[in-house]
Amino acid sequence: MANVAPIRLFWFRRDLRLHDNTALYQALSGEAPVLPLFIFDPHILQKLPAANDARVSFIHQCLQTIKDHLQQHQSDIRILHTNPLDAFRQLISEFTVEGVYCNDDYEAYAQERDQAVASLLSDHGIALHRFKDHVLFEKSEVMKDDGKPYTVFTPYSRKWKSHLTDDTLMHHASESRMDRFLKTAPLPIPTLESIGFSKTDIPFPPSDIPEKILEAYAQKRDLPGINGTSKLGLHLRFGTISVRALARQARTLSESFLNELIWRDFYQMITWHFPDVRRGKAFKPAYEAIPWLNDEAAFDRWCTGQTGYPIVDAGMRELNATGFMHNRVRMITASFLCKHLLIDWRWGEAYFAEKLLDYDFASNNGGWQWASGSGCDAAPYFRIFNPDLQTKKFDPAFTYLRKWVPEFESLTYPKPMIEHTVARNRCLAVYKKALYGD
Ligand code: FAD
Repeated sequence: MANVAPIRLFWFRRDLRLHDNTALYQALSGEAPVLPLFIFDPHILQKLPAANDARVSFIHQCLQTIKDHLQQHQSDIRILHTNPLDAFRQLISEFTVEGVYCNDDYEAYAQERDQAVASLLSDHGIALHRFKDHVLFEKSEVMKDDGKPYTVFTPYSRKWKSHLTDDTLMHHASESRMDRFLKTAPLPIPTLESIGFSKTDIPFPPSDIPEKILEAYAQKRDLPGINGTSKLGLHLRFGTISVRALARQARTLSESFLNELIWRDFYQMITWHFPDVRRGKAFKPAYEAIPWLNDEAAFDRWCTGQTGYPIVDAGMRELNATGFMHNRVRMITASFLCKHLLIDWRWGEAYFAEKLLDYDFASNNGGWQWASGSGCDAAPYFRIFNPDLQTKKFDPAFTYLRKWVPEFESLTYPKPMIEHTVARNRCLAVYKKALYGD
């Protein structure tokens, strides 16, 4: 028999924060108290290969923080480990649910899942209310004058900026309504072990918005040897910071940082409008014809940072050790895999997906398709990064190299697995033949 006093449910997903949370603010705006909820979904968890996956530890830590805050207000969060449909069947049998609130998640599986949940709820006369929170502009909010989606970044970013108003960046003060959560005795939190995981050793970057970094971002963002980028990717991915708050700061402190947030929206928009991208296809179909060599031993040397190219190896070792890799180096390592080694970009995309703390389908896919040339606004096929020239330009004092590949000048360090000019010529020939015939 359900508890009769109606409640609202708030479903946390990519928005693990109590402050400035759009859907949470809306949920807390009614008469009925709000029970917050998080679901560890076995469908997602079982795809993660490592038991000590750092992202699961991070989520667990965030839930503990949310729980501590709620408990200070005699409230709590309900945390379930089951498939979402079963979770909602259970909750609606326990409570009289007036409505379910959440922020939209645009990934393919999330959309399917939310459709199924909305339909289950609607069979019980309950609405699933979804809000924009994860991005600044979503779906078809920024379109070309002819109503079609943009496929080139620069005109998209111009239109994006022309749409930006104070309203877009509004603060949704969910934190001011802490008294509207359902009062409850403390609720249990499943341990990491009980859901099949263990704690990671990887430290997480802080979530404070680093003003100093934003101020110097344009000058320092391309130099992997210094601390010149925000490292907020993880926090944007899991919503532990508000993208609106960050964009407000960027608007006053750094146009070039704001530009990166526009890239983030751009790739989300691309995945939304081009379902083939969500299905793992090249944005430009002609690139499906490239006969990748897919040499497993070569792939293994790339993954473990043993290619003999110090900048590539430094990037891969940084990724393996910390779950982070600097953007410039992501471009270099990705280009090296696709163009020097002629390995299918999807192999690299999958490896990054496994390792990156900030892994996000849209940005990762966008980055990989950019590097391989198959993406919407990608590097042309004949642009092949020279790892040594990239090093000279972006790590001239070898600060980054020395940190991650201290042996790179010694005899123990491997010789380059393929000479640059040989690789370049091979890539040009293979790409040209596949794309344009003989
Ligand atoms: P900053 O330089 O401080 O930028 C601030 C934020 O802007 C980032 O946290 C991110 O949310 C966004 N951003 C910055 N650059 C980009 C970009 N080029 N595209 C989209 N968003 C951007 N980013 C991800 O968030 N998840 C991924 O899985 C991902 N995979 C990538 C794979 C490849 C092959 C490449 C080339 C890039 C990838 N990026 C990805 C984009 C970019 O490298 C990272 O967002 C950035 O390095 C994260 O570090 P930061 O937080 O210090 O970024």
